[in-house]
Order: sequence, then C-alpha cells, then structure tokens
Amino acid sequence: MRSRLRCPRCNYEFEYRWIPLASFTSIRFGKKRYIRCPRCHGWSWFNVWDTRIDHEGTDEH
Ligand SMILES: [Zn+2]
Repeated sequence: MRSRLRCPRCNYEFEYRWIPLASFTSIRFGKKRYIRCPRCHGWSWFNVWDTRIDHEGTDEH
C-alpha cells in the first residue's frame, strides 16, 4: 500500500509505503501511523488509509 502524505510541519508531500495489517478493521488506530517526515525529520500522525494511492485488495470497510 502506498499513501501520499503531506507533512503538517513543512508542507512537504511524500509517498509512504506501508503494509496493511491482517485484521485492519479490528484495530482502532489502524488508519493512523506515526511517521517521520523525510524532509524535516519531524514525527507526525498521518491517516495513511484515507490518503492511500493503491486501491487493490482494500474491500474492507
Ligand atoms: Zn516535514
């Protein structure tokens, strides 16, 4: 899975590659990831689910 994220600190857009967990729907905070921006190296929470680029195999809601 890939997501296009925008850093809230420096406004830098970057692609983030992640692996969806097996039981995605059962994890309360599964949509959010704590990710380090490659530009300013600041840590922020990102909703990688709503910003995902790849859509195959994501029929779960
Ligand atoms: Zn940044």
